[in-house]
Amino acid sequence: MTFTIKNHWVQEATALSTKKKGPGTLKGPYGIVYHFTSGWTTQGDIATLTTSDRQASVQFIVSRDGKLYQCMPANSRAWHAGPSRYKDLIGCNNYFIGIEICNIGYVQDLHNGYVKDEYGNVISMRTGEFQSGTRKTTTPPSTWLKASSAVVGKELYYWEPYPAAQLETVEQLTLALCAAYPTIKYGVSHEEIDTRGWKSDPGPAFPLARMRKIIDSRKIDKAEPTGITYFPAATLKRLMVLKNCPAHTAPDALEPTPVMFIKGSVVFPAAKTKRLDGAGNMRDMWLIYGDSGEGWVFGDNVKEMTDDAST
Ligand SMILES: [Zn+2]
Repeated sequence: MTFTIKNHWVQEATALSTKKKGPGTLKGPYGIVYHFTSGWTTQGDIATLTTSDRQASVQFIVSRDGKLYQCMPANSRAWHAGPSRYKDLIGCNNYFIGIEICNIGYVQDLHNGYVKDEYGNVISMRTGEFQSGTRKTTTPPSTWLKASSAVVGKELYYWEPYPAAQLETVEQLTLALCAAYPTIKYGVSHEEIDTRGWKSDPGPAFPLARMRKIIDSRKIDKAEPTGITYFPAATLKRLMVLKNCPAHTAPDALEPTPVMFIKGSVVFPAAKTKRLDGAGNMRDMWLIYGDSGEGWVFGDNVKEMTDDAST
């Protein structure tokens, strides 16, 4: 199924609601964080992420059978990333859309024909039946991916597979989000942005590269900057700053530096390149330096001066 996004809602998703969200809207959004829920049931995962007292919420939830749930507008701030950083983006809840994928994550081998989940449930490797209660895993843990994890431990763990229908939904949602938000340029795991080093999701069973490929191929279509041209100082005219403008530390840095160039000041260009702006348009970026410091600014903030053509 393909998805259509109108007014920040996926038209084909089941709409849920939650009061657990941050103020304002996402900056960008600049990317998508993929998570597993660490839960056994969709209903349990939905309750945790929408109505529980836990400081946890998310824009999207995808069940094992591929059903898509949306808890808030896609550009709302949710609480899915925790203390986090990606490149120069600190506090990823401000910049990233979260997708929580229903999946237990990992279970531990008890070396007696049973595995144990992180809640202490003991489960038969061969049948997937829980020792207490009537629950059963969708596929037996003996068939799951066996892998270690830098976060969880050196020992081998069994990681629940993501069913094809579920991955298809995650893939189609990624495509739809990329189409709706041209600013999206990163697809990341919760593990790689977690600054405390506690998180292991979405884990080795999740094909992160498959989702990244969608995001990256879209970037190639949009002709990302190919290089920076540095100018020999003597050949260049000075530039006039046309309006107060913040500088960026690098041409692809998303957040401004503390340096602000003031309207009317004269600055010197050092290099030029192009990048996508927040609206998905390709724009010139200049590296300039002046009295207030140096940094990268968009080309429409500066203009070449004509009075020094002969110097
Ligand atoms: Zn997570």
